[in-house]
Amino acid sequence: MTKIIILGSANSIADAQHENTHLAIQEDKAFILVDCVGTPIVRLEQAGLDFNQLHNLILTHSHPDHISGVPLLLMNMWLLGRKHPLNIFGLKETLALIQNLMDAYEWSKWPNFFSVNFCVLPAEKMSLALETDELRIFTSPVKHLLPTLGLRVESKRNQKIFAYSCDTEPCPAVEELAADANILIHEATGEALGHSSARQAGEVAQRAKANSLYLIHYNPRDENYHKLPQQAQESFQGPVTLAEDFMEIEI
Ligand SMILES: [Zn+2]
Repeated sequence: MTKIIILGSANSIADAQHENTHLAIQEDKAFILVDCVGTPIVRLEQAGLDFNQLHNLILTHSHPDHISGVPLLLMNMWLLGRKHPLNIFGLKETLALIQNLMDAYEWSKWPNFFSVNFCVLPAEKMSLALETDELRIFTSPVKHLLPTLGLRVESKRNQKIFAYSCDTEPCPAVEELAADANILIHEATGEALGHSSARQAGEVAQRAKANSLYLIHYNPRDENYHKLPQQAQESFQGPVTLAEDFMEIEI
């Protein structure tokens, strides 16, 4: 069974109940991590995920609320005796920043460090980024404040489709990623440069003919955040759910 585990649902300012937005895609014997923040080893344990089953990390873009956990993840895996390689996928700008960050920590001096493979994804529409036994993952550049990727995940087992906007303004690329998707997880930061409101997320879901919409990357410090699904429902006819930390969504 493949499922999505929401590891964080907040925008860039987390609170005690909402970590910054990131998620895991769990397959039978492995999981894929999409973005990495906070203290990742603890978060994965809390979600019931064995970090030894993490082989592929996809980074959507290089803002700190999406990638700041990478150095600690790598260091903790190394200290816990990891031997097998980790693949890190992202746009060239994102991977260059991670390399610079790790160079600042002088990771070349960490003895017996496991290998990290940087897998550069092209800034092209619907690129096949990663294929596993169970899934095909496509990426497209979306419209944010710096180079950013959205995702389309297709299950080879049951042909179900899950799309993830990451941080973006409404744009045709997200509609294409979400076309006829069973599940669209879309950001709802609010209407601003490089971001979307819940109503705009609903419009995108409606145009893409998605079956269901989950709102993520919202402001948990706004006392009205529970009303976001109602706002999306003004423009989207399908079910709308507010993503919460540790929520599990079956694909
Ligand atoms: Zn961002």
